[in-house]
Amino acid sequence: MRKPIIAGNWKMNNTIAEAEKLVKELKPLVKDAECDVVLCVPYTAIAAVAKLTKKSNIAVGAENVAWADKGAFTGEISAAMLKEVGATYAIIGHSERRQMFGETDETVNKRTIQALKYGLKPIVCVGETLEEREGGKTEEVVKRQTEGAFANVTATEMAQVVIAYEPVWAIGTGKTATDEQANETIAYIRSVLASLYGEETAQGVRIQYGGSMNPGNCKSLMAQPDIDGGLIGGASLKAADFNKVVHYNA
Ligand code: PEP
Repeated sequence: MRKPIIAGNWKMNNTIAEAEKLVKELKPLVKDAECDVVLCVPYTAIAAVAKLTKKSNIAVGAENVAWADKGAFTGEISAAMLKEVGATYAIIGHSERRQMFGETDETVNKRTIQALKYGLKPIVCVGETLEEREGGKTEEVVKRQTEGAFANVTATEMAQVVIAYEPVWAIGTGKTATDEQANETIAYIRSVLASLYGEETAQGVRIQYGGSMNPGNCKSLMAQPDIDGGLIGGASLKAADFNKVVHYNA
């Protein structure tokens, strides 16, 4: 049985003061959640959010992680630095980073390996663009991204990994993949994992859906057999909305 995992991706939102306000509101709401709850927040807010959530069921994550231990990498933040301020997860390869900041399958792989080396759980994002979906290339794209992300990652390490399937055309657009579309592609990603690592390992990896998931559509998405959680952008910025997604069965 895979434990569902609902993770917020705040993106470039919330100053420390705003982050503290949101977390104080959210903490009591989600305290009885049956799923894992994660907040991936801007670097500057990690320490404050980690402090506020210390004895709670909320884990804290970063939105990226450097691929090197330390050194001449201006603007990067290392896995050790993230661990030091209380992060236990890191989003890697979000489509916004692939599209705007030159992230490639190779850099996603290097960051994933680095996160695992330091005991950070990677939330690795894969997903096709609208053009790729309309061109019938969805499976080809997510296969390439999945195989690329996990090159030289062992089956044992895969137990720490979360994958987020995020069709790029559904992120921040209000357009959600249908429940069946999301489940079908996630099942396909699991079959790619099975061919890399065997069926048992593939069945153990949690694969989230991400892309305009919200209080209105989370229940039916989460009812799909291969969808193990959500990576939530816009709806993670309001405590009431994020809480409703966390309690997707209510
Ligand atoms: C995301 O940024 O990972 C995301 C899914 O955003 P949204 O929920 O706003 O579509």
